[in-house]
Amino acid sequence: MNGEAKSSLSGRAMRWAIALTEEKSVTGTGGEASFGPWLADELRREAAFRHAETWTIEVEPEDGRHCVAMLVRGTGRATIVLTGHYDTVTTRDYGDLEDLATQPQQLTQALRKTLAMAEAPAVRRARDDFASGEFLAGRGLLDMKAGLAAGLAVCAAFAESTKAAGNFLFIAVPDEENNSVDARKAAQVLTEIAGEHELDIFAAINLDAIADDGDGSKGRVIALGTVGKLLPTAHVVGVPAHSGFPLSGLNAATIAAAIAARVEWASELTDDSRSLPGTPPSLLSIRDGKSGYDVTTPAAAFATFNVLSYRRTPDEVLERFDRLCADAASACLAELKRRRHFQHGSAAIDLLQTIPLHRYEAVLDRLDAEARSRLGAVGASLAAGDLPLPEQCRLVTD
Ligand SMILES: [Zn+2]
Repeated sequence: MNGEAKSSLSGRAMRWAIALTEEKSVTGTGGEASFGPWLADELRREAAFRHAETWTIEVEPEDGRHCVAMLVRGTGRATIVLTGHYDTVTTRDYGDLEDLATQPQQLTQALRKTLAMAEAPAVRRARDDFASGEFLAGRGLLDMKAGLAAGLAVCAAFAESTKAAGNFLFIAVPDEENNSVDARKAAQVLTEIAGEHELDIFAAINLDAIADDGDGSKGRVIALGTVGKLLPTAHVVGVPAHSGFPLSGLNAATIAAAIAARVEWASELTDDSRSLPGTPPSLLSIRDGKSGYDVTTPAAAFATFNVLSYRRTPDEVLERFDRLCADAASACLAELKRRRHFQHGSAAIDLLQTIPLHRYEAVLDRLDAEARSRLGAVGASLAAGDLPLPEQCRLVTD
């Protein structure tokens, strides 16, 4: 590519990156809902895309959020999909500068002023980066509107070249920072789009950023693989007790906390690729099943973890997760029994040898079987049935 073409490519990418950032689109807000139609209009208005076909795809009727698709034709059927998300995380963490969060130039200047006095190493690096003139700040600019902008600049250059072989299908989607409903929707309709427009899709490039804590060169690569993500969750069912008689029960939240402490950063769930160290697992959410304050110990608790993997299958990850949960629960039970030793009176856990662990599918199967054999009795507490506790220890009400 010659120098002129390169500078028009980067100039265009910068213009789009700023324009897309200025149109605020925080996940779950009205801005996210209006961004799709806005982007489609902008693409239709762009001179370079006057021969391109642009349309929106609503995720569900009445959902309000849209994928934006644009087909830029060259010749033949071979097609590359360029895709990425346009929603962003919140702007709240900009604090006093929140009003400027989606104004890249003003925000960058304001940040430079704010950072002028501080001396922490990270601040010094940020200050040097900004001083170089090579960096722009902005909510969602890196993750990932600049990626979309790069894709659009390439599409524009392609649209302006004569009789270029192949086609580009650009697809921007919302909801990546949440549940990825629209990316999943786009994946479903891709075959339909290919059929309708007579395209052979042979490659898809995710335009999102790659984290690079160094000089930025790693952030410019196209990765040929991706890291897999699972959200294993432990749902702990305990035996609630009045907090005046805690030995009569088994606190679900305590066991969940033990599991959280065991799984956090566990090497057993850290999967490296051949060339990169793995990211350790971390707790994303922990909560009990209560809807408000009362003096009964929690009957149920959940702990959800972020687990990334390069090579392990979901089954292998779940097996490892099971083992860690079982370890944590039995260590917690043993410790509670040790403490119980110094107390008076009988305790429910004296009768408990282990805390049984079941996979979700097994619980469902068992519920199905129970429902078949005892019509209408499914509401019974499954885990309490699993625990060999005397009847009076199952539930103590306030
Ligand atoms: Zn992203």
